Amino acid sequence: MSIAIRNAWIVTQNKNRDVLQGDILIEKDVIKSIGKVRSGADIEIEANEDVVVPGLINTHTHAAMALMKGIADDLPFSDFLSRVFSYDSRRTPKDIKSGAMLGCLEMIRSGTTTFVDLYYSEDIIADAVQSSGLRGVLCWAVLDPEHTTQTGLPLDNCRRFCESFKNVERIVPAVGLQGVYVCSTGTFTDARDYARENDLLLHFHLSETRKEVNDLKKREGSRPVEYLNGIGFLGSECLAAHAAWLTLNEVRVLGRCGTSISTCPVSNMKLATGGVAPIPEMLNAGVNVSIGTDGSTTNNSLDMFGEMKTLGLLQKSNRWDPSVLRAQQLLDFATIGGATAIGLESSIGSIEVGKKADITIMDGKAPNLNPLVRDNLVSNIIYSSSSQNVKTVICDGRITMRDWIVMTLEEESVVSSAVESARELMD
Ligand SMILES: [Zn+2]
Repeated sequence: MSIAIRNAWIVTQNKNRDVLQGDILIEKDVIKSIGKVRSGADIEIEANEDVVVPGLINTHTHAAMALMKGIADDLPFSDFLSRVFSYDSRRTPKDIKSGAMLGCLEMIRSGTTTFVDLYYSEDIIADAVQSSGLRGVLCWAVLDPEHTTQTGLPLDNCRRFCESFKNVERIVPAVGLQGVYVCSTGTFTDARDYARENDLLLHFHLSETRKEVNDLKKREGSRPVEYLNGIGFLGSECLAAHAAWLTLNEVRVLGRCGTSISTCPVSNMKLATGGVAPIPEMLNAGVNVSIGTDGSTTNNSLDMFGEMKTLGLLQKSNRWDPSVLRAQQLLDFATIGGATAIGLESSIGSIEVGKKADITIMDGKAPNLNPLVRDNLVSNIIYSSSSQNVKTVICDGRITMRDWIVMTLEEESVVSSAVESARELMD
């Protein structure tokens, strides 16, 4: 199967960040050529100056929580947590599946092709990933046994999941850790050993709230990054979500360890956890930055376009400096930065010959994106676009949405089964 995309603005996100006008030829799951494509293809997409960007990469979410959107808004953090836990503990496998399907559908519609998920029951979420055509880096959440609702030991469950999904298309199994507040040193080091032996990503919440930092200081005598570094946990296979309450020393440690971060600006602002991730300092220290939406109870959206813009606004406003984080950098975080964070930078994150065909096409005629010229293209994507501009999406060489019609999922039935599950859950 081959696909030709013709006459597009191509925001390649290659090393030179070239923006080209031309065609893309996809053969099977791979980008075969970029420029002028003379041969015909099985599927012809006339882009007619539409804007083509790499499929977006959401590096921190809990997709199945899409079902619980809007159930715990405008609450103090402790009330928020108890409300979410009370729903979460009542969820059946059917609820998790319908929530994950709804999340995948929302991600397709907003131009995401790869997401990193942190949850239990990742085997069920893997089902949703397989049917939706997305790529999922699925991190089974490990925590101390006394803190979990999982049946059996979390690390054993994680191992079993990683073993059985080792060679499944578009699924990257990985090790998740809930965070320092429910994970002992032994839990961290056992998870680390398993991940390193099997070359798996380690993904975890880090310094989201000031309370979590202060509690750890009382328990272990050090701040989270210092503690995790002290037990030999941090490394380049680590992806830390939030990383909002950090000292400059902690930022330097992350840089030295090669640990990536997933910043979640909307979630942090909505929960009013107060910390603003020190992104400029991270970039100075060589930390690879990517962006996550977090789950639908804290955002309440999986829209990476909204997230890129919000991140830019938050950092500029916080620093009283409009030159902090340029549009190009914000797009980098959601594409090649995301790919680097999950160790897939040689296969996804940019539009280059030989890479996987993960591509998002935006409506170049949309009023909110115009006038569109080479010089304002990236700015308009970041500051003027919306997920509604996403017209066609290709993941791994397969069209997941074409001209706003989702091809991989029955949209109506996904939404109605999510509604049914949500109603039962809220009763
Ligand atoms: Zn989270």
